[in-house]
Amino acid sequence: MKITIKETPAKTILVKSGLPGTDWVINPYNGCPFACMYCYAAQIARWKHPNDEWGSYIDVKINAHNLLFQELTKLQKKTGTKNFGSIFFSSITDPYNGVEAKYQLTRKCLMVLRDFGYEGEISILTKSPLVTRDIDILKKLKNISVGLTITSLDDAVSRFLEVHAPPVTKRIEALSELHKRGISMYAFVGPMLPYVVQKENELEKLIYTLKQIGVKEIWFEHINLNARIKDRLFSYLRKTNPSLIPLFEKTKVFAYQKNLDALIYKFVRNHSIKIGGGSVIRHNKPHN
Ligand code: SF4
Repeated sequence: MKITIKETPAKTILVKSGLPGTDWVINPYNGCPFACMYCYAAQIARWKHPNDEWGSYIDVKINAHNLLFQELTKLQKKTGTKNFGSIFFSSITDPYNGVEAKYQLTRKCLMVLRDFGYEGEISILTKSPLVTRDIDILKKLKNISVGLTITSLDDAVSRFLEVHAPPVTKRIEALSELHKRGISMYAFVGPMLPYVVQKENELEKLIYTLKQIGVKEIWFEHINLNARIKDRLFSYLRKTNPSLIPLFEKTKVFAYQKNLDALIYKFVRNHSIKIGGGSVIRHNKPHN
């Protein structure tokens, strides 16, 4: 897919979060070339691109780091502290999407937070091993954790649904490297795909594999199939693999979700893994 890249200055960058568990979000980009078929941001972030296909455009907030410095300074003057609450990268893009390799806006924002001496929690969630490029800066941040999204152990599954995102095997390698280099890290298993339920041992294998590379905390999330996400996902499945549609339909059934939750609680207990987010398996909350 051809991607249209547009450099555009933002008016604000540190934005009050509507997501539970985080106070602020930073989105150095609008749009995401990874083009995941279940992406909730596909609807949220497209107000400037109502007719463009998700994944086909990205707006680069070219002044993100300068703006962040100004906004942090202003908040410090107002509050008298260097901790305004938790900051999350990112809610409507992947902070390490492909164009980050060139523009380095996430890196520059992290440098601003480092130089400012930000004292609040900073959390990053990505599907890209590019995050390991920034280990030098991550090491200097006081309160940082980095998550990689792992929805299966199979590159074919990630390629099918997370169309242009780096393969899951590379993400697992990135988690392992973060761990070895002393960066606090976690895995995000979300959305949980019918694939891990159809083959019960796959879910346990996934949890076991993550544990083997040093993961101590996993966040789990059920798939969000609201009307718009479903439209886009199902229209893709109709073209590619219609037999999967009933399996995805089933994920909305209460009994299905309850059984899946029970399996997760059993497996994390077996492997002494902590569930992130206050031990809560999240239901239908959108995320990267
Ligand atoms: S789910 Fe995340 S990585 Fe995938 S397209 Fe959406 S924002 Fe990008």
